[in-house]
Amino acid sequence: MFISLQELELRTVRFDVAVPAGEIEYDYQFRQKSSLVAHGTVELVNQSLGEIRIRGSLSVAIEVACDRCLEAVEFPVAKNFELFYQPAGDYQGGGEEELEEVDSEIAYYDGDRLDLNEILREVVLLALPMRFVCGDDCKGICPGCGKNRNQHVCDCQTEAGDDRWSKLREIRVASGPRG
Ligand SMILES: [Zn+2]
Ligand SMILES: [Zn+2]
Repeated sequence: MFISLQELELRTVRFDVAVPAGEIEYDYQFRQKSSLVAHGTVELVNQSLGEIRIRGSLSVAIEVACDRCLEAVEFPVAKNFELFYQPAGDYQGGGEEELEEVDSEIAYYDGDRLDLNEILREVVLLALPMRFVCGDDCKGICPGCGKNRNQHVCDCQTEAGDDRWSKLREIRVASGPRG
């Protein structure tokens, strides 16, 4: 669903959508497992600045991979949100100082319309945890044989190796493509 500025100049736009899985692309480690249901309003709060406010709520089930055992787990997201958008044009010509202290609640739009799916995607990504563990008691993957220790009992000696393995994984997570 696209929301045009022209329409916003005339009225507040309401949305009430159910976005099927697969229509919005997330980062590689997340997959949408249910319809994304969202409703709310979009309004032009400052006509001369082109500032737009989007308020609403959404709910969706996202599949996330556990950090320890890599099993996919369904993670329900239910969120009320309020976001402000400003025209991207206002942000150019600022020289070198771009993106210094950007308020995370303000985003930018290009052209004369907003893509609602983009906005909903943003809300979902902000609601998801940076690191996710399927359960406090998750035993993770055995560094010796690579099996999921929640599902298999193995005979590997892991007391010493275990810690090094988890540090290595942390380094990989930190330097991964996420960002
Ligand atoms: Zn796990
Ligand atoms: Zn093992």
